[in-house]
Amino acid sequence: MRSISIAIDGPAASGKSTIGALVAARLGFVYIDTGAMYRAVTWAALERGVAIADEATITALAQQLRIDIINTGPADGRQYTVLADGVDITWAIREPKINDHVSPVSAYPGVRSALVRQQRRIAERGGVVLVGRDIGTVVLPCAEVKIYLDATLQERARRRWAEATARGLQVSLEKVTSELAMRDRIDSTRADSPLAVAADACVIDSTTLSIDDVVTAVLGVIAEKRGCR
Ligand code: C5P
Repeated sequence: MRSISIAIDGPAASGKSTIGALVAARLGFVYIDTGAMYRAVTWAALERGVAIADEATITALAQQLRIDIINTGPADGRQYTVLADGVDITWAIREPKINDHVSPVSAYPGVRSALVRQQRRIAERGGVVLVGRDIGTVVLPCAEVKIYLDATLQERARRRWAEATARGLQVSLEKVTSELAMRDRIDSTRADSPLAVAADACVIDSTTLSIDDVVTAVLGVIAEKRGCR
């Protein structure tokens, strides 16, 4: 198969990670969840006691931190393993305090340019599925396939709450809903690379669709694009 690049964007909990991983596995492509990289920088800032408002220090941290996303690791329900300077932070970056601070950190232009540079390097040779907020618009504007995955806030919150509860976290549906709404607001209104639908993206609303339905729809879009070439 020719090594194309696939960009999947959308708001928090729209199913991007699940769908991205499944589509990559079907195609034998590398899968990168770029949200994990922004979460890793946020984790490192909190770990070092850096104030979230300290843009200069957080930007320097993003430039220096070594982030690795690898496909191996303990069989504890993880999709992949995230390492920050060699430390396994796979589960730590899913904690509520990271959700609360990741969007302000991601709005810093210096943080974005440091991470976008790494994302482009990973995508250089094609054969990748990159998932995020700005992949089709900024990171890979020439990606052959662009998907924008959406779902209602209510459904996204329900999914995220069910996942957290299954992992034994005690969190109310109201708190999950307001946290997602806050992140959506910051992510889509920031000045640098806001969450937006790329002009040439195919929008899929997954609110009432099963995972299988969405994977089939995405594979259909890919087949159609490749048929056109
Ligand atoms: O996808 P996930 O919810 O893990 O992303 C966490 C946060 O990282 C998002 O709310 C957003 O602020 C930021 N992000 C971003 N650009 C990306 C991926 C994630 O700004 N490409």
